[in-house]
Amino acid sequence: PGTQLEQDPTKPTLVVLGSGWGATSFLKNLDTDEFNVVVISPRNYFLFTPLLPSVTVGTLEARSLIQPTRFITRHKKRAVQVYEAEAQDVDPIKKTVTFQDISEIKGTTASVTVPYDYLVYAVGCENQTFGIKGVTEYACFLKELTDADKIRQKLMDCIETAAFKDQSQEEIDRLMHMVVVGGGPTGVEYAGELHDFLIDDLKKWYPEVADRLRITLIEALPNVLPAFSKQLIQYTESTFRENKIDVLTRTMVKDVKEQSVVVQDANKEIREIPYGLLVWATGNTSRPITRNLMNKLPGAQNVRRGLVVDDYLNMTGADQVYCLGDCTATQYAPTAQVASQQGQYLAQVFNKLGQKSKFERDLAAARATGTAEPAEIESLVKKLNRVAKVNPFHYSHQGSLAYIGSEKAIADLPLFNGNVASGGGAAYLFWRSAYVSTLYSIRNRTLVMADWIKVKLFGRDVSRA
Ligand code: FAD
Ligand code: NAD
Repeated sequence: PGTQLEQDPTKPTLVVLGSGWGATSFLKNLDTDEFNVVVISPRNYFLFTPLLPSVTVGTLEARSLIQPTRFITRHKKRAVQVYEAEAQDVDPIKKTVTFQDISEIKGTTASVTVPYDYLVYAVGCENQTFGIKGVTEYACFLKELTDADKIRQKLMDCIETAAFKDQSQEEIDRLMHMVVVGGGPTGVEYAGELHDFLIDDLKKWYPEVADRLRITLIEALPNVLPAFSKQLIQYTESTFRENKIDVLTRTMVKDVKEQSVVVQDANKEIREIPYGLLVWATGNTSRPITRNLMNKLPGAQNVRRGLVVDDYLNMTGADQVYCLGDCTATQYAPTAQVASQQGQYLAQVFNKLGQKSKFERDLAAARATGTAEPAEIESLVKKLNRVAKVNPFHYSHQGSLAYIGSEKAIADLPLFNGNVASGGGAAYLFWRSAYVSTLYSIRNRTLVMADWIKVKLFGRDVSRA
């Protein structure tokens, strides 16, 4: 499989932007037989984001959660061209994509423009900062693998520096204060992982400073996890209280300095909170390339949150552009679950499109011979009509899960025509098994389970490697 590297000029070119949840699910389910497929993404792998918070403290190793995009495409009937590059511009009128190698090592080609017949746009989002000064300079995000690695490094740096000879008491308190901004699932899961690291490992390896570690979660709304049921919000907040994680709700970060954040509380009082490590998890915003694309179609694309698509994921105002995942503005939450179901749906649309071209070719050939049986023609027409019918995208919610630390998770599951909310140890086992079973490959599953066993037997590695 996948040995014909050259393009077939008789087949349309399908350009796919991204290698995240949306694009990967699309590629996995796509029959490439009738298309010249080109994949462009600055990341040459798929990342299983739901377990990313575990990488920040070494519960899981970074490479256990990724799968090369070429592993996915190499099993296809026709070869798929994969370029590690960032798309810089999409021209929906000329139907072209311009992309560039943005990695450290560059060859002789700087920037390339390719035409497309179909474009599948799944570039995700970038981190929301609300334009708050200092966030990009001083805070760590938690979206990419490199972010999780950076947090792990910085966390250990703070702890080693706090343990440094004759460190002042005030400085130890600052360095050992880990502040998380944003009480959505990313912030909550990170705080939970950090708590586990403190209890299971830091107390053992850094007894001189471990008790000084404090975790503070800052959330602008009246409670954390607004998307979960009330009962699970309360359960999370009480678990955090037990675990001595301070939750400051109705508190908004206004400014970020190198060693402190400036916050405004519910009484409009402003105060400064010193920190050693700051993790910023306040959600998503559109990438510059997406904003640029919207600006090219101002009449049709006028929602700041993301790209407007119809029920078939067709981008409004553009011809043959399909958008999915976090970069879109739909009724659905920006989750992996939505992006992967959209990818799967869109692959079915393209598979039907491919079959349609094939049946049209067969029908034209049968008619051209003049000797084809009427029954044969009729059967081809029927097949053609069947594949020409495409249903709109339908999302099926499988539930929401989040890990909250100390071997407890929360689960909101749509069961028995209603919602079942569960929090605790059983939900934790369900969370683990649900994510292991959705990991990309047997290799990923083996690595993740081996990491869990390793941590149980030997603890987390505290080396700042
Ligand atoms: P992404 O997966 O972000 O993929 C975007 C892709 O586009 C990437 O490969 C990127 O490299 C590429 N790209 C970026 N710019 C360009 C460009 N200019 N040109 C070409 N390619 C580009 N959701 C859940 O449902 N359950 C969870 O438990 C869950 N946990 C999460 C935990 C964390 C820490 C985070 C950050 C998110 C979590 N999510 C979860 C949300 C989920 O990860 C996103 O909703 C999902 O990744 C969206 O998929 P996507 O394909 O739209 O974007
Ligand atoms: P989010 O948008 O869900 O939450 C961000 C939070 O930050 C909000 O509650 C917001 O009120 C708060 N905030 C914003 N500005 C602030 C400020 N200046 N000061 C204090 N608080 C501020 O973001 P997320 O947690 O990164 O999640 C992004 C998406 O990914 C969501 O759709 C989420 O469901 C999904 N996700 C799901 C899971 C899971 O299911 N386990 C895990 C992670 C992410």
